[in-house]
Amino acid sequence: QEPLFSVQDLRVSFTRDGRSFEAVRGISLHVDHGEVLGIVGESGSGKSVGMLSALGLQPKTATVTGSARFKGRELVGMPRSQLRTLRGSRIAMIFQDPLSSLNPVMTVGAQIAETIRLHNAGVSKKAAMDRAAELLSLVAIPQPDRRIHQFPHEFSGGMRQRVMIAMAVANDPDLLIADEPTTALDVTVQAQIMDVLTDLRKRLNLGLILITHDLGVLAGHADRVAVVYSGEIVEQAGVDDLFERPAHPYTRGLIASIPNMAEEKERLFSIDGAPPPLGKLPGGCAFHPRCPQAQEICRHTAPPVRTDGAHTAACHFATLPIGSAA
Ligand code: SF4
Ligand code: MG
Repeated sequence: QEPLFSVQDLRVSFTRDGRSFEAVRGISLHVDHGEVLGIVGESGSGKSVGMLSALGLQPKTATVTGSARFKGRELVGMPRSQLRTLRGSRIAMIFQDPLSSLNPVMTVGAQIAETIRLHNAGVSKKAAMDRAAELLSLVAIPQPDRRIHQFPHEFSGGMRQRVMIAMAVANDPDLLIADEPTTALDVTVQAQIMDVLTDLRKRLNLGLILITHDLGVLAGHADRVAVVYSGEIVEQAGVDDLFERPAHPYTRGLIASIPNMAEEKERLFSIDGAPPPLGKLPGGCAFHPRCPQAQEICRHTAPPVRTDGAHTAACHFATLPIGSAA
């Protein structure tokens, strides 16, 4: 049975000054109904541009190849109008900054109602407003009947993100992609928003993709995690497996730099330096200039993908049995 959403060997390239370079270099992943996939990587790793490109939202200058399938339909190359319809109904997205996505002069209820009516022509204004109040209560906003009549500025940052989530699920999507949904929020509110999201995926049987630079927010919330570095997935595993036995040095660095984990465990090392700029990828393993375990082979030979069941890692010295990519 085909997963709800799957990406196979997705590549996104740009041409600049007559030279072409890849921002996404062959990503493969999948997510099912009721499942939470975390995608973690530093800013500029290609995790956002990869997922946006899979949904037809790549920058105009980008070339996308490979496959992105949603419920059996190929999205790469699908006409823009069809993609737009899918994105407004079956696939929903939320981003870091809810304020920039909300209309400041419209009540939140009216905005949610408008989203509902845009995709359901027969629904009355009254019914859409009632549904908007239900949706606010679904995302645990107190006093929804009063709150639907308020404007975005009357909500705190965390409450605004809940409004965005309510709007995103207004048309009962199958897949929700959340790109840095908690990055602008303080730690306590972050945890609440993650709870709201993961609770919704159970209640609505959503496939949920959480894109973040912070591996810490995925602990206890994701089912599986894909770690992205320089446009490639360097490790993918079930969340507990990933935290308990990270096989890739980059993942170990990310775990070591989670603040409260670093206090509890011995700090192994921090990841020094910055990811290579696009178009200036080093040869061999792209992580080698920053890798504390790099050997001579890493400088000239790209690592194989090692697998152990659902756990994969692309490193010459990954602590997994060697095998081919799943
Ligand atoms: Fe480090 Fe080499 Fe593994 Fe790359 S292949 S992560 S440089 S040890
Ligand atoms: Mg991003």
